[in-house]
Formats: sequence, structure tokens, C-alpha cells
Amino acid sequence: MLSKKPVVRLTGQKRHQYSTKKFVGREFGSLIVSGFDGSDDSGHTYWRCLCVCGKIAVERTDNLTSGRTRSCGCKQNGGLK
Ligand SMILES: [Zn+2]
Repeated sequence: MLSKKPVVRLTGQKRHQYSTKKFVGREFGSLIVSGFDGSDDSGHTYWRCLCVCGKIAVERTDNLTSGRTRSCGCKQNGGLK
């Protein structure tokens, strides 16, 4: 766990840099956020998530935080009310 991480210099000039670090590494059900993927015209942001099954899924922020999305789709059984 001593691998060097690239140092990011914060100059304070890039204000559009969304607070991505808050999400990276967080777990939502079976998903672990691995990185920021992008945003759309509606202002939704998307995250690349690693599922426990090994797949990568790109999920929207509100789906993750609301608990609507808890896996890449491999664990849908029992999720419906
Ligand atoms: Zn999965």
C-alpha cells in the first residue's frame, strides 16, 4: 500500500473541478466508485463503479446516493418492492 500516487496540484483556478474525491472509493451496495466519468447537459454526473462481480458500471450520482443502484445489474433479485 505504499504505491505513489500522482500529486495533484491545486492552483485554485479550476473551479469546475467537481468534488470528485468525495465519491471515489465510496461503496454503494456492491459498487465501489473508481472514478469520475463525466456529466451530461442536465447537470447529472456519472461515476465509473467497480462491481463485486468484476464488471464496470457507469452510474448516475443520484441513483447511487438514493440507493436505487446497488450493483451493475447482477444483483437485481429481491431488489424490487
Ligand atoms: Zn455486478
